[in-house]
Amino acid sequence: MFGRMPPRKASNNTKYYEVLGVSKTATPDELKKAYRKAAIKNHPDKGGDPEKFKELAQAYEVLNDPEKREIYDQYGEDALKEGMGGGGGADMHSPFDIFEQLFGGGSSRGRRQKRGEDVVHTMKVSLEDLYNGATKKLSLSRNVLCGKCKGKGSKSGATATCSGCRGAGMRMITRQIGPGMIQQMNTVCPECRGKGEMINDKDRCQSCKGNKLAQEKKVLEVHVEKGMQHGQKIVFQGEADEAPDTVTGDIVFVLQLKEHPKFKRKSEDLFVEHTISLTEALCGFQFVLTHLDGRQLLIKSSPGEIIKPGQHKAINDEGMPQHGRPFMKGRLFVEFNVQFPEPGVLSPAQCKSLEKILPPRPSQSSDMELDECEETTMHDVNIEEEMRRRQNQRRQEAYDDEEEDDGAPRGVQCAQQ
Ligand SMILES: [Zn+2]
Ligand SMILES: [Zn+2]
Repeated sequence: MFGRMPPRKASNNTKYYEVLGVSKTATPDELKKAYRKAAIKNHPDKGGDPEKFKELAQAYEVLNDPEKREIYDQYGEDALKEGMGGGGGADMHSPFDIFEQLFGGGSSRGRRQKRGEDVVHTMKVSLEDLYNGATKKLSLSRNVLCGKCKGKGSKSGATATCSGCRGAGMRMITRQIGPGMIQQMNTVCPECRGKGEMINDKDRCQSCKGNKLAQEKKVLEVHVEKGMQHGQKIVFQGEADEAPDTVTGDIVFVLQLKEHPKFKRKSEDLFVEHTISLTEALCGFQFVLTHLDGRQLLIKSSPGEIIKPGQHKAINDEGMPQHGRPFMKGRLFVEFNVQFPEPGVLSPAQCKSLEKILPPRPSQSSDMELDECEETTMHDVNIEEEMRRRQNQRRQEAYDDEEEDDGAPRGVQCAQQ
């Protein structure tokens, strides 16, 4: 149908047409159709070649713009690149933006589409919440598209594309700066201040005053599921602030576990400390533990069992439920502290009778051998405090060393003393 154009002298001004597979006389409609077909086929989200996809977008962006197309036809690709100046130019729009602009969000709700910000909240939960599951209601206020104008900002609902920039928000200004020399500059459209559209004063939506947005109060029900973890995210897709031409971001709740006075959690297991008396450690015990769901667990030793200080015992299936499989539960570990009698509680006579029951002492050295030993005295110490003091001392020494390195030389200080 279309006559072939005679070959031109300027090199490199047919590539874009070839990329799109159209003739040099292709109409805007033909360009759009060709681009659409090729871009869908080569979209990286569908496994296409990203380079080819980029090439297509670049070709389409130039040929779809009458000004750019004219420059390209006359002077080729290089003229466009030269004219773009630093920073701007052919890469101003990502290939994804161009694709989205043309085909809307439907085909690819991709990460590269213009996307609103996610709103992240921390949500405090108790260990009981994570064990039993819980529902929390939260009232939030957010921006939504104005219901009256459906986010258009105008009563008529017409999308009033700015005539100055044809909706792009940017305008390419072409200047001839010398014979055969063209300079192109991208500037923010002065008529719409970069918005790409204009709303007539009379047509302006009364409800939102043309801002396109309204405030909405919303109650979100956050379902904390059994077995969820500290730091786990609960996502409400598309519930963040709405904005025109933007994929609404998500509201994200990050669970933050409050410390429990009794139970500690390590992934699927629970840990609890329990103190027993020396008598219980030696002669057996039983106690009642209230679990996170209020059940009363009876925990008791086996006959003849002796518990050592710091010893752990485990109870199967009384740990945390697994997230997604709440009937599968971890283990409950009990760590035993043994409380020994206070000094002076045992009389010498009681000690004697205890010695009869308990295993015998290790064999004693003879009096002769003891005579040759030196007597010593033991003091009470708080070992933790001792360690802390020692650590501070070491830190102070390291600090002093550092001072000497970049401060006054040691010799001078010595001389002053
Ligand atoms: Zn404009
Ligand atoms: Zn409105």
